[in-house]
Amino acid sequence: MSELLSQDESACARCELSLTRTQVVIGRGSVDAEVMFIGEAPGRNEDLQGRGFTGAAGQRFDRILEILGLERDGIWLCNAVRCRPSIAGKRNRPPKPLEIAACRHWLKSDLDRVRPRLIVTLGRVAFESVTGMEWRAERRSTLYEAQEFKIPVFALYHPAYLIYRRDLVGTYHQDLEALRAAMRSLRISVGNMSHGDAAFN
Ligand code: SF4
Repeated sequence: MSELLSQDESACARCELSLTRTQVVIGRGSVDAEVMFIGEAPGRNEDLQGRGFTGAAGQRFDRILEILGLERDGIWLCNAVRCRPSIAGKRNRPPKPLEIAACRHWLKSDLDRVRPRLIVTLGRVAFESVTGMEWRAERRSTLYEAQEFKIPVFALYHPAYLIYRRDLVGTYHQDLEALRAAMRSLRISVGNMSHGDAAFN
């Protein structure tokens, strides 16, 4: 288990988000992880707690791991952007292209050190930062190769999306079944959890 790969990262001032964050939310998990999950950016709770995927989105992320038969300690989990983007410190906002580009330094650092066998991107920002391709919904649920890193990439919707789009829950389960199949094809062990045992609530 490793929580901090670089002392420099927690003091980073590569973009203006350093002026408004409470703390840098660094990647966590196992440096020996076969699968790396990459989200978008910290929200208010993550910024305060210093930990990625807390609250309602975190509950859904943990359900995803259950369905895949994985645990947080056995994966690497990080965000494409490590500091919270907000509007005057109140509402969360999507990261800007300059912020994503600046923080790609740390994403590459995580990928170089962990060298996972599979990257799972959660939402548009992570997919575009890793692949350099434009996000489209039809690009999810398929294996790509991240050319720069030579690592297979599988794209999912961000789990926070399900909070507002309950109509996509069935689609998400189908995507997770496709991800299980992709993991098997890469000889990554997959748990036996069934959809019924670990359905989203
Ligand atoms: S968002 Fe990334 S690049 Fe910008 S200050 Fe935070 S850690 Fe540095």
